[in-house]
Amino acid sequence: MHLSAGTISAPQAGRTAWDVVVVGAGPAGSMAARQLAREGLSVLLVDRQLFPRWKICGACLNAGSTSALSQAGLGTMLQDLGAVRLSKMRIAAWSRQACLRLPESFSVSRRAFDAALLTAAIEAGVEFLPGASATLGPCCGDAGDLARHSVRSSAGGARIVRLSLGEERVSVAARVVVAADGLSGGLLSSDGAGGADWQAPAARVGVGATSPIGPDFYAPGTIFMAIGTSGYLGLVRLENQQLNIAAAFDRNYLRHAGGAGMAAAAVLEQAGLPAIGGVESLAWKGTVPLTRRPAARAIERVFAIGDAAGYVEPFTGEGISWALAGALAVSSFVRSAVRSWDSSLVTLWEKHYRVTIARSQRTCALLANLLRRPLVVRSAVALLEQLPAVAVPVVRRVGRPHHLSSVSGPLQEMTK
Ligand SMILES: Cc1cc2nc3c(=O)[nH]c(=O)nc-3n(C[C@H](O)[C@H](O)[C@H](O)COP(=O)(O)OP(=O)(O)OC[C@H]3O[C@@H](n4cnc5c(N)ncnc54)[C@H](O)[C@@H]3O)c2cc1C
Repeated sequence: MHLSAGTISAPQAGRTAWDVVVVGAGPAGSMAARQLAREGLSVLLVDRQLFPRWKICGACLNAGSTSALSQAGLGTMLQDLGAVRLSKMRIAAWSRQACLRLPESFSVSRRAFDAALLTAAIEAGVEFLPGASATLGPCCGDAGDLARHSVRSSAGGARIVRLSLGEERVSVAARVVVAADGLSGGLLSSDGAGGADWQAPAARVGVGATSPIGPDFYAPGTIFMAIGTSGYLGLVRLENQQLNIAAAFDRNYLRHAGGAGMAAAAVLEQAGLPAIGGVESLAWKGTVPLTRRPAARAIERVFAIGDAAGYVEPFTGEGISWALAGALAVSSFVRSAVRSWDSSLVTLWEKHYRVTIARSQRTCALLANLLRRPLVVRSAVALLEQLPAVAVPVVRRVGRPHHLSSVSGPLQEMTK
């Protein structure tokens, strides 16, 4: 199957009345689309990029991710992709190193992982339209309204999604839209009703690159974390032997260092890890500031999941598990909303998200804040060097699976 061609043309997508349009084919969007198609809903998945695509990421999947994949019946996907089993994390700061044991974790390139999840979604009946950049249009209550927007929808109201594919413009209508458009998508705010995103005042930015080679020191099976005063760097070998590098840096530091490659080289040196030849000239890419959340995680007929529902710095490497957990949890909300829209679903999703995924993001936010205190980092790494077992409860907490099936009482009532 050629993912880059998609499975449907834009005019065909515009002529169809969709139960659900999912915007963004990262882990959150592909997983949600697949779940919903398996439940018999008609699902259109759109992404502004062509697939397979590269993505800035530490490329590590923790126990929360593997458990979500198993729950979705995709338990063999990582082995099938040849993902590398990770057993250790080596943390280096100020020439001290501590080595921690990791529970059930894997490294795999995002190019391969995201393409595999997308393929699984298509096999479940999802129609995929790549190269389509989406913005939200209005909600339409009746057939006359929909006809004015030249879209088709079944009776009972719909949300319009406007798609741009180069010069081509198409509007599609769906009973429900899932915003899985990542950190920088801005789908919810394109409506205007959701309001502006909140961003942490000193939020760091992410950068990433892959190196075709790199010193043998960076062996497969270990995550290497280099911590410096103005950011940190994670390195891991992928299934294709390449070295994946992902980092979070203070914005001023990036400017001051002269770019992502120079900043990465400086942090490796500061931490006492081996230099990577040519690191300065790799094809580095960057993100928007990382710690952010939208003003609302749901608005009329739209639910946000994955990074689009809020993200904190990547130190604990949990973003994919939050994305998959959100995708699995949102399906009962979407099912209910497709049957009949009820505005209380907006507050129910916000509440459900807050007590499940956003709660587990707090541990990551706390650790990320501690990393900004050099004295704390030095003392912690020195302690872990001597007594690595001290970290066991934190490592377990970070990697634990999210409780996915616990949807709140009022929703259970509504979905009966
Ligand atoms: C430096 C760094 C390191 C990280 N390391 C790890 C790690 O090791 N482990 C881990 O679990 N997580 C890690 N993460 C987090 C992880 O990458 C994200 O949490 C995860 O990709 C979120 O998935 P998603 O599906 O929500 O978004 P994404 O994977 O970003 O997918 C969003 C998709 O939406 C598409 N899109 C955006 N806007 C539109 C639009 N308007 N119309 C159509 N399509 C659109 C994009 O093209 C993209 O394909 C890291 C993040 C960073 C920045």
